[in-house]
Order: sequence, then structure tokens, then C-alpha cells
Amino acid sequence: MTSGEKPRTTLLDAREAEAERRLFGLWNEELSQALGGFGLLKYRLRQLETALYRQKVTDIQEVTTWPKELRGKVAAAGFRVGLPEIVETFRSVDGTERYLIAGTDGQTVETVWMPEGDGGEEGDSSAEDDEVAEGSSRKAWSRATICVSSQIGCAVNCQFCLTAKLGIIRNLTAGEIAGQVAAVLKKHEAEPGRDRINLVFMGMGEPFLNYDAFMGAVRLLAGPMEIPESRMTVSTSGIVPGILRFAQEKVRPRLAISLNAPNDAVREGIMPVTRKWSIADVLSAVRLVPLRQRERVTFEYVLLDGVNDKEEHADEVVKLVRRAQFPARVNLIAWNPGPGVPFMMPSAETVADFQNRLREQGVPAFVRKPRGRDIYAACGQLKKTTSRQEPVAGAGGE
Ligand code: SF4
Repeated sequence: MTSGEKPRTTLLDAREAEAERRLFGLWNEELSQALGGFGLLKYRLRQLETALYRQKVTDIQEVTTWPKELRGKVAAAGFRVGLPEIVETFRSVDGTERYLIAGTDGQTVETVWMPEGDGGEEGDSSAEDDEVAEGSSRKAWSRATICVSSQIGCAVNCQFCLTAKLGIIRNLTAGEIAGQVAAVLKKHEAEPGRDRINLVFMGMGEPFLNYDAFMGAVRLLAGPMEIPESRMTVSTSGIVPGILRFAQEKVRPRLAISLNAPNDAVREGIMPVTRKWSIADVLSAVRLVPLRQRERVTFEYVLLDGVNDKEEHADEVVKLVRRAQFPARVNLIAWNPGPGVPFMMPSAETVADFQNRLREQGVPAFVRKPRGRDIYAACGQLKKTTSRQEPVAGAGGE
């Protein structure tokens, strides 16, 4: 350590202390506890929740339902809103936008806005009931999907994924996860309830390795932010303890399993997590998740040229879906290239053949259109290249 550096523990303590005074991310009991010293009546807390989560104010002075004096007292005690801030925007030719959003310690996380859906392939549940929401005709989009990150970096090390190259830097808090959504909704003046907003937890990180914060964010999003849980999908690489906890949740998004291989042997080569939990282990855990009416579990399948895209692989996927014994669908994604990732994109013909082979054998299969490839916003491409980010001991992992 050089003389000018602060010890890491001091930096972490300072970060935690600072985070404690952030109001965004707190609601209900937490908010009541944080502001316990002010003797606020319930209706004052509700006014604050509306300001934070519906109006998405950025400053306590904007909570205009509160008397000026109260705003002043709370601000003087060091509290601030702390809504995460978009610090950089990359815009794709297809309308997709990728954002760098600053977290509590100034480190950035990646979030993606996809107007007109998430690749809205025919039959995709995200495109069902897709009428133009009342009041949204003034916009260039009628519905949109936000791809949300749960960690900075990722420890899972899928071989085809650019995010994996970062390693795990740190977990995000519930406020930082939900805050990505709030920042993006604010930017686009989008309002859940009026506008059709889907959320996919498929950005940087493995949500089930940051389970409590992830589920805290889901409750915040489904609660005061009023985004129906049925419009959210979480994707996991197959973290079995997380799936088992998820099965117990009263409020929960739809579930997607990042499968990417027809058997354990191929999967181990591209997803080392398979050595810990086999495909059979994952299927057994998913069987315990009580699905809603007409709900299907999605198997995400990134096609890698010559690795997992052959006819025999498709036939094995059919068998796997049959023995899953729960309603399922397969989303096929042609691998998105990334620097330093040693795979090749399959041809469009291979992708179509793979899809047809699944469909002919009765498996619902859809091809997800790539979004924002030119700005590194597509699946598996999220990686902010910065030398500032260094792994923090104890962050992430199981
Ligand atoms: S695909 Fe997902 S789980 Fe795998 S390394 Fe990338 S971010 Fe992590």
C-alpha cells in the first residue's frame, strides 16, 4: 500500500455507510427504520415511496408532497435519493441502447434497452397480447425490454461469454439492480402500467449467486415500481441451491435456464458450472418450481458453430425437453462474436435447420434476433472494458 492509499476495509466501510443513507432501494419496513429518527407517520413514508419509485425523483427537494422543512431536515441528516445514474450511452443502428450505470461506489454496470421487445420472435411469450398500450402512441416504441445486470462481472466463467472475462468484481445491491430499471424508465419517460415493459435478468452476472439482492430487487420492482412479475424473466446458468430457493418464492419472475448444450459432456466444455451441477440436477430442481397457468420454462441455447449445433445435438435436446417433465420452450441464439472468445458464429442455415428439427419433433423453438451487436449489447457481449475494476475479495461466488 502506498502512503496515500486508504486501507480497503476503510473504503468498504465508507461505501457501506454511504449506501445506508441512500433512500433508493429501501421501502416498507427498511424505509421506516432508516428514517425512524424523524417520527414520520405512515402517509409520509408512502409519499416518499411514490416520489422514489413512481416519480423517480433524484433529489429529496423534489419530494414536493413533503413540507420544505421536513425535506431540509432529512437532507441535513445526510440522506439522499441515490437513484443510479446513466453515465454513458451507446446506441445501435437497430434502436437498442446500452448504458453504463454508476453504482454506489462509482463503478459502472451495464444495462440494455431494447425497444419493440427482446427480439420478439413469433410465438415468443414476450410478444403475446402485444397491443399498443394506451397513451404510448406518442412514442416510437410500443413496448420495450430492459436487460438488467445482477453483478459487476461474473464468476461462472461460461467460455462463450465476454462478461466472464471480467471475473467477479462485486455483487450489486437490491437498490442498484432495481435502480438500473428506474434510471432507464426515467430516461425514456416510460411508465409501467401505461407502457408495456418487460424485464430480463440476463445482463452481467449470475442472479442466483447474488440471490438475496436479486430477489430484493424483484420485490421492489413488483411492489412500489408496479411491474408485474409475469413480465420479468430471470436466467440462471443452473445454480441448483438458487433454483430450490426460487421454488419457494411467492413473488417470482418466469424462469429461464441457460442450457447451451444437449448433454453434460458438451456442457462441461463450455460451462464449467456443469461439473458442480449436472443437467439432471438442474432439471430435478426446476421440477419443484410451481409454474403458473400456461407458464413454460425457457431453455436458452446459444448455438456455437461445430460445438453444439449439429443434427444429433438437436435430437438430444428434444429428448432432454421430453424428460424434463415440465412445460418448456427453447430459445435459440446464434452466438454473438466477442474479442478473445474462441468460437465461430453458426450460419443462418444451421440455425434454421436446428430450429426446424426441434419443431418437427414437437418442441416449441424460437430464434432470438440479435440486438445491438454493433455496440456489444447482445447476449454474452456485456463487458465494460476498464482497468479500474479490480475484483473485491468476498464479492460474488457461492
Ligand atoms: S453467460 Fe451469464 S452466467 Fe455465464 S459467464 Fe456470462 S454472465 Fe455469467
